[in-house]
Amino acid sequence: MTQISLPTGHQNTFSARASRWVEHCGNRDCTSGWLQLFRRRSSPRFEGNWACSPACMEHILTDAICSQIESWEPVHAERALRMPLGLILLSRGWISHGELQEALAAQRRSGNGRIGEWLGRLHGVSEETIAKALGIQWNCAVLPHGMPGLEFAPSLIPAFLRRRYGLALLRQGPDAALYLAGKDRAEHAAARAIEHMLREPVHAAFLEDSTWHQEQAETADTAEVLVPGRDGVVASIGELIERTRPSDAGLVRMHDHLWLRIWLAGRGSRLMERRDIVISLRGQDGEEALKPLN
Ligand SMILES: [Zn+2]
Repeated sequence: MTQISLPTGHQNTFSARASRWVEHCGNRDCTSGWLQLFRRRSSPRFEGNWACSPACMEHILTDAICSQIESWEPVHAERALRMPLGLILLSRGWISHGELQEALAAQRRSGNGRIGEWLGRLHGVSEETIAKALGIQWNCAVLPHGMPGLEFAPSLIPAFLRRRYGLALLRQGPDAALYLAGKDRAEHAAARAIEHMLREPVHAAFLEDSTWHQEQAETADTAEVLVPGRDGVVASIGELIERTRPSDAGLVRMHDHLWLRIWLAGRGSRLMERRDIVISLRGQDGEEALKPLN
């Protein structure tokens, strides 16, 4: 067993007192020394980190953007492992073999429509059953239509991202957990991203079609769209952070976009102003907007 000697009480008191006056630069490779006395920059901050210079902020941003990009699970790889919905319904005895064959044939002939829709149309398979099977297929919660207390919480994420990716954020009662529903797929990665941004639990879920059709009260989209300049995403976000000097900021990946949220100290008031910015990871011609990060 390794013995670890703990610092003495005296040192502890010193460091607790000192940390109020000095701050560590959040850039691990900072060369200006890890203690910054009499710092001139108190902002900007990014994900709780303070940076001693714009160059160090760019390092912190590079790390954050890389880890957000890399931690996103490719949807297609996920999908390849899924059992087909028809087989799940069949294996549970919720439809017959003949019903599945007919629905598949109808889908093939028409060239469109989801298999669940065809099963509903031809054989009266209920939305509830389809949603249950989707929940099994994607390993996530199913929120039945008319679930008590369930309400949309559209203002928590930018309307731009909700519309672009067919997302709905819901809450069952004011203090209960959040659910993120996707129209066509389980949004596990997006749920994790929103959880990171909002700092509260978010579960991936499926909604029955009729709940989707309940009109979500449309909120004005306040998110700004940032088109990365020639120097790429990191430089563009870095420039924005230096210009606006947020008291804090968060960044997550949502599919092919980054969502940056910044909090700005309001002038003469104690309230924080919140701004959302979305940044496409792909250029306008579908070209990668990312420059090499080194
Ligand atoms: Zn630094």
